Amino acid sequence: MLKPRACWIFTFVLCFQLLALIAVPVASATSGRSQAGDSAPEMRKLMLEYDVIIDIGHGGVDGGTFYQDLLEKDLNLAIGSKLYHRLRAQGYQVGVTRLQDYALSDDSSFEWIRSRHIRDLKQRWLIAETLKPKAFISIHINFSPLRKTRGPVILHQRRAESYLLAELLQDELNQLARAKKRTKATHDYYLLEKVTSPTLIAEVGYISHPSEREKLQSEEYQEHIAQKMADAVNTFFILYP
Ligand SMILES: [Zn+2]
Repeated sequence: MLKPRACWIFTFVLCFQLLALIAVPVASATSGRSQAGDSAPEMRKLMLEYDVIIDIGHGGVDGGTFYQDLLEKDLNLAIGSKLYHRLRAQGYQVGVTRLQDYALSDDSSFEWIRSRHIRDLKQRWLIAETLKPKAFISIHINFSPLRKTRGPVILHQRRAESYLLAELLQDELNQLARAKKRTKATHDYYLLEKVTSPTLIAEVGYISHPSEREKLQSEEYQEHIAQKMADAVNTFFILYP
């Protein structure tokens, strides 16, 4: 069942009959173009035209990586929500897997699966497969035991659209971080392997690097990251309208 704290995120989605039929609680905030008065076919059409789903990594009991009391899940949320609002403002049909400190595994349609981690991933996969966006971007923060390791790393699928968007994102974030990191193709991550939309895992910086950690906590730097990511998305949709 949906938690009350998440209901406002789900309001639009719960109106969507197809999702109701398959009894999937989907976390999605939309650009607000569709309201309750829309007909089901119109809503279905809108639901099937998602440009981007922003997948905000971890949440709730799952803090992700950390440094002392600084948790990855909070940085992911701060950056991902800024990206979400930027893309919405630019007119994209955009959804987000969470806009609060919330564990997707709690809403899982996979409650028979004992592993909370697997339930979380499967829920994100289900959102992607249900909404079929033109791009699915999962936001994370990296960690390395080597304190000097820094910079963004964009992981992508072995397919053209995913690679192209990854290169665009990597380039924008490299400029911001003054880094020369390279994208990586891998299917070692569940979402990269399973999601059929062009999918990325954007590790936007290292929580283990002292100065990068400081910057990642800055509202201003988070806005810069969101702007750079939005720029990459814009370029992607010029190339793949
Ligand atoms: Zn993570």
